[in-house]
Amino acid sequence: MNTPESRCGAVLTIDLAAIAANYRLLQQRVGPAACSAVMKADAYGLGAAQVAPVLRQAGCRHFFVAHLEEGIALRKVLRGDETVYVLHGAPPGAEMDMLEFRLVPVLNSQQQLTAWQGAARQLGRRLPAIVQVDSGMSRMGMPPAEVDAWLAQQDPKAGLDLHYVMSHLAVADEPDHPFNREQLARFTAIRARLGNIPGSLANSSGIFLGPDYHFGLARPGVALYGGNPLPGSANPMQPVVTLQGRVVQARTIAAGDYVGYALSYQAPAERTIATVSVGYADGWLRHLSNKGHVLIGGARAPVVGRVSMDSMTVDVTGIAPSLVTAGALVDLLSPEQTVDDVAALAGTIGYEILTSLGQRYHRRYIGD
Ligand SMILES: *Cc1c(COP(=O)(O)O)cnc(C)c1O
Repeated sequence: MNTPESRCGAVLTIDLAAIAANYRLLQQRVGPAACSAVMKADAYGLGAAQVAPVLRQAGCRHFFVAHLEEGIALRKVLRGDETVYVLHGAPPGAEMDMLEFRLVPVLNSQQQLTAWQGAARQLGRRLPAIVQVDSGMSRMGMPPAEVDAWLAQQDPKAGLDLHYVMSHLAVADEPDHPFNREQLARFTAIRARLGNIPGSLANSSGIFLGPDYHFGLARPGVALYGGNPLPGSANPMQPVVTLQGRVVQARTIAAGDYVGYALSYQAPAERTIATVSVGYADGWLRHLSNKGHVLIGGARAPVVGRVSMDSMTVDVTGIAPSLVTAGALVDLLSPEQTVDDVAALAGTIGYEILTSLGQRYHRRYIGD
């Protein structure tokens, strides 16, 4: 009997030991501040249920998700003394769900603050929260004027046990961009008005902007999962993801023959073309048509033609036929062609490649 691994069209291997090592490296960098783990979008597509216990084992006690539902799912895995924060806060009216699952909201607006304080009053106890302020990204959190209005109320922090005040950086991946300092200054000023409760500002790249940005709690995501927090420089993180696709068939085509939809590739000479069973429905973006390569026994086989929904075609001319027989596995993501490399080819960022990784892959977790 075949196993799912031997039957599947592609194998996604996730190195949990590398994720743990990445966590420890980031924790060392931000110490004495605490280091959390951002787990939104199913741990950037890698599987929160598998990743969370490994991070906890590595010492992580603070976790972030985006949605309440993600928090509820994570609480099934993390049942202990960890804190699970929900970045979007509670949807209106869902405050009690937050409490039922021991989730802590990030309060992003006066409306969310008021609702959480209402829940506290109803229960007659203080409720934990993070308050988010907008230091220049205009995405989430209270802008300075809204913070002022809040603080002008009578007993503004009534019912709140504020763990942190947080904000988010817009250009942390561009270390020389002056807006990093600007956001730091704005954040520092707002935090002072709030009575200097512990701060949280840095995402993965923000950690590498230096200790000024660390405050009490760092919030890395992509770097835990092997993404490069320092675009343009050597990646300090260990690679986490490898992806192998299976050859469905290989054929020789003549000079002038076409490959794929829209006939976007025409062979200049006789070529051997292998069809690999990974396509855009698996997260290999159609933008990668005629771009990049796969590795076969260490040799590069360029992608030719359009990426289809379930398959892509690669030029394997000159590669030993025994390596491209039906059923052979070829490397799509590896230390030689990383998530960030593929992202650059597709005109996007590693985050999008990771979170697009398909549900059809056989997932293999190693290093646990
Ligand atoms: C996604 C996110 C993070 C993590 O960002 P990375 O760049 O992946 O490290 C941190 N904070 C907030 C508010 C986020 O939305």
